[in-house]
Amino acid sequence: MPRAVVIGGGIGGLTSGIALRRKGWDVTVLERAPKMDPVGSGLAIAANALKALDTLGLGDPIRRLSRLQGQAGIRRSDGRWLVHTTMDVAEARYGDSVVVMLRARLMEVLADALGAGHLRLGITVSGVDAESGVVRTDEGDLQADLIVAADGINSKTRQALFPEHPGPTYSGVTAWRGLIPRGDLDIRSTESWGKGLVFGVSLLADDVVYVYATDVLPAGTVFEDEREELLRRFGDWHDPIPGLLRAADPAGIIRNDVCSYDTPLPAFHRGKVALVGDAAHAMTPNLGQGACQAIEDAVVLAHLAGNAGDHLAAYTAARLERTSKVVRQSMSICKVTKLRNPVAVWLRDLGISVAAKSRPDMMLRSMDDVLSWRPPAGENGGDRGSDPAALRSGRN
Ligand SMILES: Cc1cc2nc3c(=O)[nH]c(=O)nc-3n(C[C@H](O)[C@H](O)[C@H](O)COP(=O)(O)OP(=O)(O)OC[C@H]3O[C@@H](n4cnc5c(N)ncnc54)[C@H](O)[C@@H]3O)c2cc1C
Repeated sequence: MPRAVVIGGGIGGLTSGIALRRKGWDVTVLERAPKMDPVGSGLAIAANALKALDTLGLGDPIRRLSRLQGQAGIRRSDGRWLVHTTMDVAEARYGDSVVVMLRARLMEVLADALGAGHLRLGITVSGVDAESGVVRTDEGDLQADLIVAADGINSKTRQALFPEHPGPTYSGVTAWRGLIPRGDLDIRSTESWGKGLVFGVSLLADDVVYVYATDVLPAGTVFEDEREELLRRFGDWHDPIPGLLRAADPAGIIRNDVCSYDTPLPAFHRGKVALVGDAAHAMTPNLGQGACQAIEDAVVLAHLAGNAGDHLAAYTAARLERTSKVVRQSMSICKVTKLRNPVAVWLRDLGISVAAKSRPDMMLRSMDDVLSWRPPAGENGGDRGSDPAALRSGRN
C-alpha cells in the first residue's frame, strides 16, 4: 500500500488524509498542536466545497451541522441593502447554498472521518526531502511515497521548496471574529460595509451567532480591549450589531492581521511533495473560500496523485490557475472594502446598488466560476476525467 504523510491537521490536511485513504493510501497526518483546538469562530462552506465533500461521503453530515441562512448580501452601516439575494436562489443556481457552522464542529467531523489512528498530534515536522520522500520530525524520520504539505500560510515546507517565493503579504486589514449567544436578539445573517469597515453576522445552529469584522490598520496593532474597539467602530451601526457587541464576552473575541499570497507559487508540487490549502494559495477571507479551496485541493489531489504519487504535475495543472483566480478575486473585494474616502465610498455604494437594480442576479453571477466547480470524474457527480483543462474550470 502506498504511504502518504500529511503535514498539518487543519481543514486542508484532514480532508487530504480522508480523500487519500479512500483511494487506498496508508495515511499519517502529523499535527504539531498537542490537541485539536481550532479558533472559536464560524466558517462558511460554499456549494463548490460541499460538492467536493459529497465525494467523501461528508457533504450531508456537514450540511446538518449548519443553520440555513435566509438572505445574503451587503448592507450599508444603517442597514439599507446595497445588494442581496436569498439562499433559495443560490441553491437553485448551484445545487447548494452556503452553509455556516462552528469551525470546531467541522474539524470534529473531519477528524472522525480520518480515523484516530491516522492523526498524530503533538508532532512537529522539521523538514522534508522532496526527492526521497523523507519527512523529518521531532520523533524521528518517516518515509513516504507522497508528502502533502498542508502546514498553513506560514508553511515551512513552502519556504524550503520555493525559497524565492516572497510568502504572505499583509493585506492592510485586520479581522475580528467571535461567537455570541443569540439571547433574545432578532438576528438576520448579513454583511455590512462602511468606510473601511466590514461587519458580518451569521446565525449558527444552537442559537449561536458568529460575528466577524474588519478595519484598515497598520500590521501588528495591539489593543487592550478588543470588544471596546469593536463598540467604538460599530456601536452605532444597524441592529443587531450594537446589541451583539454588548452581549459579547471580551475574552472570546479573537483578532488576526489578514495576509495572502499576492504572488502565486510557480507550482504546487516539487518531487514527492504536494502543497494544499493556505500553504499553496493563502487568500483574504472576503469570498469565504480559503478552506473551500483547500477542500477542493484535497479531492483533486487524491484523484490525480496516481498510485504512487507520481502525477503531481497534473495536480499543479488542475489547481494553480483556478486558485490564483480565487485569490485575486478575493483581494479585489478586500480592496473595495478598504475604501475610506467618503466620496469613494459613496460612489462604490451607488455603483453596487445601481448594478444590482439593473441585474438582480449580479451578486451570484460574480461568483459563478467559483461556486459552479464540480469534482472530478468518478467522484460522485463529475464527468471531466483527469483532463487538467476541465478540472481547472471545474465545469461539467
Ligand atoms: C477571518 C477569517 C475568516 C475566514 N473565513 C472563512 C470562511 O468562512 N470560509 C472559508 O472557506 N475559509 C475561511 N477562511 C480561510 C480558512 O480559515 C483557511 O483558508 C483554512 O483554515 C486553511 O486551512 P489549512 O488546513 O490550509 O491551514 P491551517 O488551518 O492553517 O492548518 C495548518 C495546520 O498545520 C499545522 N502545522 C504547521 N506547521 C507544522 C509542522 N511543521 N508540523 C506539524 N504541523 C504543522 C498547524 O498547527 C495547523 O494546524 C477565513 C480566514 C480568516 C483569517
